Amino acid sequence: MIRTRFAPSPTGYLHIGGVRTALFSWLYAKKLGGEFILRIEDTDLERSTEESVNAILEGMSWLELDYDQGPFYQTHRFERYKEVIDQLLANGHAYYCYATPEELDEMREAQKAAGEKPRYDGRFRNFDGTPPAGVQPVIRFKNPTDGEVVIEDMVKGRVVIANKELDDLVIARSDGTPTYNLTVVVDDWDMGVTHVIRGDDHLNNTPRQINLYKAMGAPLPKFAHIPMVLGEDGSRLSKRHGAVSVLQYKEQGFLPEALLNYLVRLGWSHGDQEIFSIDEMIEHFDLNNVNSAPSTFNAGKLLWINEQHFKVAKKEHLSRHLAPFMAELGCDLSQGPDLANVAHLLRDRAKTFMEMAQAAVYFYQDFESFEEGAAKKHLRLVAAEPLQLLLNKLEAVQEWQAEPIHAAINAAAEELGVGMGKVGMPLRVAITGGGQSPAIDATAELIGKPRCIARLQMALTYIAARGEGE
Ligand code: GLU
Repeated sequence: MIRTRFAPSPTGYLHIGGVRTALFSWLYAKKLGGEFILRIEDTDLERSTEESVNAILEGMSWLELDYDQGPFYQTHRFERYKEVIDQLLANGHAYYCYATPEELDEMREAQKAAGEKPRYDGRFRNFDGTPPAGVQPVIRFKNPTDGEVVIEDMVKGRVVIANKELDDLVIARSDGTPTYNLTVVVDDWDMGVTHVIRGDDHLNNTPRQINLYKAMGAPLPKFAHIPMVLGEDGSRLSKRHGAVSVLQYKEQGFLPEALLNYLVRLGWSHGDQEIFSIDEMIEHFDLNNVNSAPSTFNAGKLLWINEQHFKVAKKEHLSRHLAPFMAELGCDLSQGPDLANVAHLLRDRAKTFMEMAQAAVYFYQDFESFEEGAAKKHLRLVAAEPLQLLLNKLEAVQEWQAEPIHAAINAAAEELGVGMGKVGMPLRVAITGGGQSPAIDATAELIGKPRCIARLQMALTYIAARGEGE
């Protein structure tokens, strides 16, 4: 059984670069009928926060990246780590190191002065004397000193590191708490992870982890290191390039599948296809087609992809995501048409749900005044006659639907011998309050008859009050 995982550290927001690796892991498991695990790596007690854990859980749930197991918390597994560390100590793969921080600093300074790479020199590796008093030791892994570690990375290809490049890493701090490289190996082993798919910022850790697997007698998983996402200036994507937290995209009104579509295309391709449904991503995803070079984040393209998903999404799906934005704007959805129909009508005209919601307010809320520019232009004295005529005709419409509404507008224009626009534009401003809306007949249908009639009357009053002079 294929098993992949996403293992974020809850020390900040859920970064979209992290989500891209989560998505690749998720897709890989889904595609091969395997399982996907969520594991919260919260052993850094000082930097981990509950708020950040919640952001991870909320982000995963918004994106519908469902997990078959977890969330597991590393802080619940300290006993198990201790057990493994004790075993490593017992069979000679680990040892206590009593070097004080000052001593280690001195050692590094001396190495630097001699033009060497600073590294732990193994001074307690074979120590069997009396431990110095008053030092709480750390525990280090006894890394092999000869031979090499070979990573057959599914994205990067073959990576070879000589063991003499690796020093003896700390696997337990002096307070006894285990470090990242130890916990990640114990967890991936215990949880039966077969494919470790993660950011290539961890590639440096992998040879050390492979040596740990071997020392523990654990089977090696396969590794796939995914290149980083960069900002437009070529540096690693961060806050100063704009929104990097997944929840910010939720708040700005993106469809989750559009964000995933954007992220899957960052560094992965399937021919020249740009728009993918989730099912298509699962069907076509392949680690072999993941680019081994970093990719650049482009907010404009993400917006474009969101627009494309708006155009094909089911209207109920759109309305489910649009509803919170309507509430945010103070709209009571019981005071107007089915939101799904409104979303369907507006979906070609909005880049985000935030925009869509702003364009949907007049379906649910009456307004007290017309938009100034649009009113100036379209609610003039010459519009009084067409609007009055239209009002009479619309009052007589029995079946309040786009077609008869359209016929009424047509008939009014014909009777007055003017183009449709001369009737349609004043009508648009009258019933929507502004000069922009989808097709006016369909818009009027959804606004509803009583509201349209009342707003037309309001427009006529407005025109009358404006008087001759203007
Ligand atoms: N917890 C690590 C991080 O958030 C990831 C560890 C891993 O994927 O192996 O960077």
